[in-house]
Amino acid sequence: MKYDYLVVGAGLYGAVFAHEAKAAGKKVLVIDKREHIAGNVYTEKMEDINVHVYGAHIFHTNNKRVWEYVNRFAEFNRFTNSPVANYKGELYSLPFNMYTFNKMWGVVTPQEAAERIEQQKREAGITEPKNLEEQAISLVGRDIYEKLIKGYTEKQWGRPCDQLPAFIIRRLPVRLTFDNNYFNALYQGIPMGGYTAMVANMLEGIEVKLGVDYLENKAELDAMADKVIYTGAIDAYFDYTLGSLEYRSVRFETEVLDTPNFQGNAAVNYTDAETPWTRIIEHKWFEFGTQPKTVISREYSSEWKPGDEPYYPVNDDKNAALYAKYKELADKEQKVIFGGRLGEYKYYDMDAVIDSALTMCEHELGQ
Ligand code: UDP
Repeated sequence: MKYDYLVVGAGLYGAVFAHEAKAAGKKVLVIDKREHIAGNVYTEKMEDINVHVYGAHIFHTNNKRVWEYVNRFAEFNRFTNSPVANYKGELYSLPFNMYTFNKMWGVVTPQEAAERIEQQKREAGITEPKNLEEQAISLVGRDIYEKLIKGYTEKQWGRPCDQLPAFIIRRLPVRLTFDNNYFNALYQGIPMGGYTAMVANMLEGIEVKLGVDYLENKAELDAMADKVIYTGAIDAYFDYTLGSLEYRSVRFETEVLDTPNFQGNAAVNYTDAETPWTRIIEHKWFEFGTQPKTVISREYSSEWKPGDEPYYPVNDDKNAALYAKYKELADKEQKVIFGGRLGEYKYYDMDAVIDSALTMCEHELGQ
């Protein structure tokens, strides 16, 4: 065997494992079917602006171990995510906070806002929310659900809100304070110089082969290493023998505009049902850019089909049941560890992926 570990996928999970394995004195080969490292956090310069090629990634965490870890590979700026919602030309602050409630209802005090939400929840008669729609209405009331949640969520997931799991909306804070910070996180920021540079630092001194498709050359690649860390889609690994898991895919239309400022914010969500895109990202604002031009990406959500990039696992009951069956198969693969958003079919944030990779390293590398 030439290598101790073959790492399939040069995204965050793979890069963290590769880094730790090398530090533990192991021989590691990282491969990726794409022509670049960093998976979906990959950034690329356009007009001197770091463009988040696979969608906006804002690093945020409450996990000190993870925060200290990423700071070893990049310096983070003070970016705080405060998206704006555009509903048919009306602008609202996100996440749901006193600015949002004031604009929606004209309420001024937290008490008035709380009463408004309570009244709308009562009228809807929801006691135990069973799906995303009921969860949303009981958190913020029907008006906000209709204007800021329903259209956006149904575009993003391609499914009616009453058929989506409630946990998706619980990712978003609801606050009776004037606080536009989208995340309840102690630590937040964007790696200065882009995510690609951060991942390149993690992979420093490690052999990386790009444009190599593991599943197409599996036998040959497996023969090169004692163990495999697989971060691709778990159903693809098993050649979809039990059926396909569902994913959402995202497509971006990226444009360079000859203006220094298009929308005045990194993220504007289009929350009505009619606008075909879910959001527009203006990349320079992640790094307080002063470039003369700007780069924007319109984001369109679609159901994944073979040949597309899988982005979001659809963690509903049906898919959870199918994943559980794939997981049983995965557990029987002695030589292979499955990890990351696709390998574990889990709607992981970046910090959670890194945490799970570090925990796996402790078991696997005995650190
Ligand atoms: N969401 C919404 N309106 C918004 C933003 C988010 O209803 O303007 C809901 C939507 O259901 C979405 C979920 O909150 O799927 C999580 O959004 P988040 O921004 O965390 O998703 P991500 O950035 O991972 O795509």
